[in-house]
Amino acid sequence: MLNILLNVPGADRPSYEARLPDALKRAGLDARVLMETDEPEMVDYMVFAPGGPVSDFRPFTRTKAVLSLWAGVEAIVGNQTLTQPLCRMVDTGLERGMVEWVTGHVMRYHLGMDAQIHGLNGGWARHIPPLAKDRSITILGLGALGAACARTLAGLGFEVHGWSRRPKQLEGITCHAGMDGLGPALASGEIVVLLLPATTATENILNAATLAQMHPGAFLLNPGRGALINEADLLAALDSGQITHATLDTFRKEPLPPDHAFWAHPKITVTPHIASETRPDSAVEMLVENIRRGEAGEPFVNLVDRSAGY
Ligand code: NAP
Repeated sequence: MLNILLNVPGADRPSYEARLPDALKRAGLDARVLMETDEPEMVDYMVFAPGGPVSDFRPFTRTKAVLSLWAGVEAIVGNQTLTQPLCRMVDTGLERGMVEWVTGHVMRYHLGMDAQIHGLNGGWARHIPPLAKDRSITILGLGALGAACARTLAGLGFEVHGWSRRPKQLEGITCHAGMDGLGPALASGEIVVLLLPATTATENILNAATLAQMHPGAFLLNPGRGALINEADLLAALDSGQITHATLDTFRKEPLPPDHAFWAHPKITVTPHIASETRPDSAVEMLVENIRRGEAGEPFVNLVDRSAGY
């Protein structure tokens, strides 16, 4: 019998405790789900989310994989005690949630909805937005989430550009890659979406120099990670008008401290890391698929590349 340890914070446990045993059974896996253990050497797979009790992975000598419930793995990827394969979460719930959040906030900027929401106050100011075909959007990060958003936005008719580390070809998307491609990607989008992981290579990727390369008056969405942005440089770019408005979902420190300048800034909308949540219904299927693969001797999916950090 396989031992699956749920190393996740208390609040996340009930959803997985309720769903995982049945999903394992449906896959024909003889397994039991443990909330905690004093026999780490008996654990075959570990489900991981930041904030769970285990931070030293050395006693888990039999563990064949650590399965992250989060898409972003910066909280664990640098842990020197972790030698087991690490898989990150890619699931349909996470993907659809991100596509919906990004599309909604892009449409707010594209249509200039704030003018109407805040009220025209009797002034018949007829602002006619351009059609999507006349609006350009750049997505930094063309992975599972960035590519899904890019496809949806291109499907709505937007001119979509994307940027990744390695060259990519996505139908209907102008793809840029590598540091040489960053400037052209940034300059191409009136609305820029950050869907990069937090790594040493992406930290502060938006700074004074790169913000200056953006389309003048661009809008910014950051559902990626707070560490992607140099905060002081963003505030300066908002003050100068180089950036018109930013919607930020992720922050260097979460929850965002109550006295942080972002909360009250008139050109920033804060959303509390809700762009996309791992949905237990679909996530358990992904966990079970990787456990099945491990037992069948097949390669894991969504394996993290430790050297790249994501
Ligand atoms: P992913 O599949 O790993 O894709 C990451 C993308 O970033 C890839 O296209 C990758 O390029 C690119 N990239 C990485 N390092 C780069 C670099 N140095 N230069 C240029 N491009 C680079 O990740 P994902 O599943 O799409 O998720 C993206 C991020 O979204 C996560 O890491 C997480 O931080 C964030 N997220 C946020 C929420 C939320 O609720 N706010 C929810 C889920 C995820 P290659 O294609 O060449 O590898």
